[in-house]
Amino acid sequence: MLYIFVNGKILDSESPAIKVFDRGMVFGDGLYDVIKMQNGNFIFLEDHIERMKKSAKFFGIKFPYDLEEIFEIGQKLSAMNDLKEGELYLQLTRGVDIIRDHVFEDDYEPTFVEIVQPVRKMNPEIWQVGARVLLHPDLRHNFCEHKTTDLLPNVIAKKYVRSRGAYEALMFRTDEGGKYVTEGASSSYIFFDGEKIIAPKIENILPGITRIKVLWLAKEMDIEVEERRVYIDELLKMKEVILLSTLSRVLPIVKVENFEFKKGEIAKKLDVAFMDLCASHLSVK
Ligand code: PLP
Repeated sequence: MLYIFVNGKILDSESPAIKVFDRGMVFGDGLYDVIKMQNGNFIFLEDHIERMKKSAKFFGIKFPYDLEEIFEIGQKLSAMNDLKEGELYLQLTRGVDIIRDHVFEDDYEPTFVEIVQPVRKMNPEIWQVGARVLLHPDLRHNFCEHKTTDLLPNVIAKKYVRSRGAYEALMFRTDEGGKYVTEGASSSYIFFDGEKIIAPKIENILPGITRIKVLWLAKEMDIEVEERRVYIDELLKMKEVILLSTLSRVLPIVKVENFEFKKGEIAKKLDVAFMDLCASHLSVK
């Protein structure tokens, strides 16, 4: 059992807290975010909330709490659940309808959920040995710059790779130039070609907070960064393939399908710098 926060109340996670006609439940009409909790601190909370607020505005969903309130609720949940390491999960839906109807009004009261939970287990060796990923078509919609709760294509892609013993999907779309990579089911990718880092352009993919921070760190280290479409044909020429996410940090990829890559120095350097940045980051005091 966990103590969770739902619309102003702290409840037992086993209690029925969400109504059947909540639009998040029936339409996936909502947003979410995942923040790393490290030593009781919520890493880059401001950036995550800013991203979520922007998306809420885009979709016309009311955003009911401010940064300080979300921080305080998180702290309370961390104390009540006796958890200092883990993840903070936020979910915001458009709210509750009286019947199921695609059409929504503008005046719903949103549903806001905040959860502090133990971090999902990852074998710590993975950062040393690297991970394998598999290609998968990107079957999602056109709102992928927002962290929406309708994750069915992501869930299917993740299940596909995990059932084949790989860690993550490397999703791709197709244009006149061929297949180009987009992102993972729950992660971003960057590539190192021996001279510069190449990051897939933000065009219908999530502006990951880890990606933003890591690209900033790379520039601080005088590594050139280029943002453009990266085609699968080019992958074989890359020196390093690197996966990024709040929970995976900076993770070297050593195999895409059966093509092998070196676990290179750039991923290592960026991961060390990223961990330092996380350790030095204090969200709302
Ligand atoms: N891309 C997708 C589709 C994701 O779901 C996530 C995280 O869940 C990311 C990228 C990485 O984002 P962040 O670095 O903000 O965790």
